[in-house]
Amino acid sequence: LLATLSNVNDLDALKKRLAEVGQTLEKMDGNIREGVEGCIGNTPLIKIKSLSEATGCEILAKAEFLNGAGNSPKDRVALKKGLLVPHSGDTIYEGTVGSTGISLAAICRARGYKAHICMPNDMAVEKSDLLLKLGAEVERVRPAPIVDQNQFVNLARKRAKEHTENPEKPGRGLFADQFETEANWRAHFTGTGPEIYEQTAGRLDAFISGAGTGGTISGVAMSLKSRIPNLKVVLADPQGSGLFNKVKYGVMFDSKEREGTRRRHQVDTIVEGIGINRVTHNFEVGRELIDDAIRVKDEQAIGMARWLVENDGIFVGSSSAVNCVAATQLAKQLGPGHRIVTLLCDSGARHLSKFWANTEPIGGTEQDVSLENILNP
Ligand code: PMP
Repeated sequence: LLATLSNVNDLDALKKRLAEVGQTLEKMDGNIREGVEGCIGNTPLIKIKSLSEATGCEILAKAEFLNGAGNSPKDRVALKKGLLVPHSGDTIYEGTVGSTGISLAAICRARGYKAHICMPNDMAVEKSDLLLKLGAEVERVRPAPIVDQNQFVNLARKRAKEHTENPEKPGRGLFADQFETEANWRAHFTGTGPEIYEQTAGRLDAFISGAGTGGTISGVAMSLKSRIPNLKVVLADPQGSGLFNKVKYGVMFDSKEREGTRRRHQVDTIVEGIGINRVTHNFEVGRELIDDAIRVKDEQAIGMARWLVENDGIFVGSSSAVNCVAATQLAKQLGPGHRIVTLLCDSGARHLSKFWANTEPIGGTEQDVSLENILNP
């Protein structure tokens, strides 16, 4: 039928031909998505050819940056949160390092709510610029420990309360609370996990991902482990994060890091979005399902980001680069013939001024990036 159609230039003739085979133009419409919300989920699973060839494993990456509202896995979470808000005129408040805010801002715009985003001021400026263009109110605050009232998450909670209590303000202030809310891991339990299962026909040996709130790794682990009992779930953790030790040894800080009485609160890394020094509810719900952890240094993530562009034409941000370093390490540990799934969370375009500003220029006189150097810096 399609071959015939391509030869028909006259619209009436086309309709006639369709009628002959019981079709209409309307019925032929396919795959039209309903607004930005219709573009969330069902992301492709990409085989990363260079890493697969180098390791003899299949390294597959769920392209979450192709979610079509805020271009990250947080679209899935924001969509669930968005559903919680019944009245236009309300304002959503959230503490975020960027991605969740961007997803919320886009969906709020589409639904007629307002978004107010509190974020640390050391995150890439592209993210706050984008939030402003999406019409969100943005408060960039000094990075601070969770015990500080003005820490970005605490501030967002406080702002939501102030809004609701202020009769001058229209609607209510609602705190989205991505670190603690059940909607976060559930979005991955019902979306990301089952999609990975279908896309691999359940044939996979390991899932590996970083954790910020922990919603992704917990939700995917719960979904996949219930169906693939031998699946290995591994945390990819950037330098300066306490989660590595939590998974490996059950405590957040090793003795060296605990020296004196000062607990480290900040995660000292150039990587944005993953790594944290406290146990959130979204991490805790899946923690027992995480079998192992791999720590990744900033220089490894930077090298991997360049490697992916030079070898695969894939341009990603820092957390995706950490995921790919750890997936490659895991492939080396498991040996050839295994299938590993990880996530590409966001695009490098969101990290030009910070993470990518620290990478060497591509081509020119720079030495080629070697995978061996990335894995063993
Ligand atoms: N990558 C990026 C770029 C992120 O912003 C986040 C969320 N903070 C993550 C990864 C981690 O996802 P999760 O919060 O589900 O652990």
